[in-house]
This record gives sequence, C-alpha cells and structure tokens, in this order.
Amino acid sequence: MPQRIETIQQFYALMQETGKLRRKLVSRIMESESPDPQGSEQLRSFLKALQNIPRQNDRFVLTSSALCLELGYEISELEKDLIFLEQGERALLSYFAELHPGFREEIGSALEFSHGLRLPLTNLISDRDGTVNNYCGRYLSSIQSVYNAVFLSRFAQRAVENAVILTSAPLYGGGLVDITVAPPGLFILAGSKGREYLDARGRDGRLPIEQEKQNKLDHLNRRLEQLMQDPRYELFSLIGSGLQFKFGQTTVARQDIYGSIPTTESEAFMNVIEELIRDIDPQGEYFRTEDTGKDIEIILTVEGESGLKDFDKGDGVSFLDGELDLDLAGGGNLVCGDTSSDIPMVEAANSPQTSAIFVTSETAIKQAVRRICERTHFVSEPDVLVCLLNQLGKDRG
Ligand SMILES: [Mg+2]
Repeated sequence: MPQRIETIQQFYALMQETGKLRRKLVSRIMESESPDPQGSEQLRSFLKALQNIPRQNDRFVLTSSALCLELGYEISELEKDLIFLEQGERALLSYFAELHPGFREEIGSALEFSHGLRLPLTNLISDRDGTVNNYCGRYLSSIQSVYNAVFLSRFAQRAVENAVILTSAPLYGGGLVDITVAPPGLFILAGSKGREYLDARGRDGRLPIEQEKQNKLDHLNRRLEQLMQDPRYELFSLIGSGLQFKFGQTTVARQDIYGSIPTTESEAFMNVIEELIRDIDPQGEYFRTEDTGKDIEIILTVEGESGLKDFDKGDGVSFLDGELDLDLAGGGNLVCGDTSSDIPMVEAANSPQTSAIFVTSETAIKQAVRRICERTHFVSEPDVLVCLLNQLGKDRG
C-alpha cells in the first residue's frame, strides 16, 4: 500500500483493502465477539493514509488525477469502526448521540414502535444507501463498515428468516457484493433493483431479459465503454456513480454530489450520451432515460400492465418473492427505505403483517408510505435504524 495517495486508482485500491480487512474483522467478531487488536491498528493506518492526502478547503486533492475529493463517508466510517473496535459498542452509541441530536430519544421511540413487530419476522426488505448504510457520493468506495455489518448481521441471524438488501446498483463488477463485508450466508443480496440476486446459500439468479433487448443493451454498453476511453470523457467514469453496467440498466455519472464537474461540461456530456442513445435506439423502443442531474440512468423497458414501463424496485421484490419463496403475502415483513424509489417495495411487500421504517424527513415520502402501510415509523438517520436492528437482534440473542 503506497504511503501517499496521489491518484484516484490508489484511493480505490486503498478502499478495497479496507474492505478485505473489514471482512476478516467482522467474521472474527461474529464468531467470538472479541475484536482483533492488530486488525484495528491496520485499519487506523488506512485512516491515516486518507487523512494524509493534501487538503484544499474541505476537499482532498489527488495531485496526479487532478481531482478534488470529499471523503466524508470514507473517513467518518473508519473513525466509527475504530471507536467500535477499540472502545466497544457503548462508546460507539455515545458517539452517535454526540453526532445526531435526539439520537437516544429516536432509538427509544423506534424501539417502542418495534414492540408491535412479531419477531422473528419472515422478511426484511431493505434498501442500502441512505437506509441501512450512510450515504457515500462514490459507489465504489462506499465499503460497508465493521460496526454496520456486525449490527445488521445480528438482526439477520436472530430476528428474521430472510434478510434482503436490495439496491439499484449492480451485484457484481464493483457492485453490492464487492462493497459488502458482512459474512456470506446471512443476507440475500439483490442488485439492479432486484433483477439479480445472490441468496443466502450462495446461489445466484437473474430475471430473464429478451435476447433482442439484451443485445441492444450490450451494444450500448460497448459504445459507452469506448466513449469513456476518450480522454475528454474519462473523468466521468471516476466520479460519483461512474459507469455502472447493471442488469437491464446502465448508469453513467455526469456529476457527483460535490459538484466536481463544471455545469457546461456536465451538460455537454449529457448531450453526447443522448445522441449516442438516439443513434442506437432511434424510435425509443428499447430504452428510457432518466436524468437525475448527477446520473443518467438508461433503463431497458419492460412490459407493464399499461404498456411499456420502467422496472422499479417493487418489480424486483415481486421477482424475488417468486424465485425465493419469501411468502410476502403471508409473512411478517419489515420494509425499509429512504427515497421515493423505495416506495414500490412497500407496495410489493404489503400484507396485513407488513411494517415499514423509512429514513426520511420529507413529508411527501412520509405521506406516500403511510397511505400504503398502516404500521409505519420514521427515523432521521441510517445510524438510528442500524442501531435499532442491532438491538432487536440482541434482544433475541
Ligand atoms: Mg437509498
């Protein structure tokens, strides 16, 4: 591991190393409940390497890549891990209480709400980013932290039959599997909004896509790959969501949450991408494009009840239900999310025994979730939800 992080490639390599180490640390804790002092020392050296990157204002400057990074997630999750490993769980909870005003009160009322849950539940259906994982502006470095994996694993092991983590990011190739450090066998990991999964027994599966549509998407992906090799556009594959080939969908970043790309360049790139899509799909039969301002989502259309529609996370949940016999209709389900794209999951998993916990302060989202699911609770931070799940797991342990 280089002493100095000067390129974005070195930065990603370091984050990969933290993932490998964290995986070891988590399985040790899950087996013996005692952390490994050498491991936490090594984790501290990774944190130091990040902190040693030269700073300009609040950004970290990678001199060789001419990029300024905001490393809030990477650094704060390493700090939390070190508190957890060196000082223990209580110290971490005190730290959360310092970070988040009202943290203990929120945990209290979330626990009260959870008294209504009949444990063990049949299914946990949860989004990842912003819900059970703090939000990171770069997908590839959003490595799960040790405490997070331990807390969620306790819940998965003791309080629920099927723990499904469902995300819009791909499963492999810099996807959910690569950034997860929880031990295999406890979670069903579902990527690409649920179109592909890796179940608790290590079997994977995917939703069939018509050959003709798949060929179009493959063609688009090849063209995008070529485009991103052009030095003018290379940077777009290294910021924010980068270039992600999901199952049935491709994401291209044109901006990140830190505004690293000048607006005119970002818009010019958007036009280049739109032109490329028109070239491959002139009639708009195969792809729908969604522009979030940061990411351009290019989605293969699916046949819905009223013609062509986009595949959403609710479609993913229904697909998994059929594939993995989740018994969503009959079981006790807890659905967790943080944005409006997670609401279809509540719809798809709704039964008389379904509860929902959302991490949001947005009124429109709260109202929409309440309209679907009677037993609903809201918290303000992923840290609250993760600590709640930990406590529910421990109570049953
Ligand atoms: Mg989310």
